[in-house]
Amino acid sequence: MRRGHVPLRTCRGCGRKGPQAELLRFIVADGVLTEDQRGVLAGRGIYCCNHTTCRERLAKSKKIRKRTDRAGRGTEEGSV
Ligand SMILES: [Zn+2]
Repeated sequence: MRRGHVPLRTCRGCGRKGPQAELLRFIVADGVLTEDQRGVLAGRGIYCCNHTTCRERLAKSKKIRKRTDRAGRGTEEGSV
């Protein structure tokens, strides 16, 4: 590992890039957007600045809504 290398993540709220340590990590668990405060939850991480505006944008983002809506509806019968 290289010294001084900081992994960057992109905020899904505003698109700003920042060090992973400065961004909040979220995952969608059972159709609910959940903050992964300790970085222990399994799933694809979604990163966001620690700002109310960014968090609101994240919750409203189409991509996230798609994921939360689909899971929240339960089993999709006959659609596939
Ligand atoms: Zn942001």
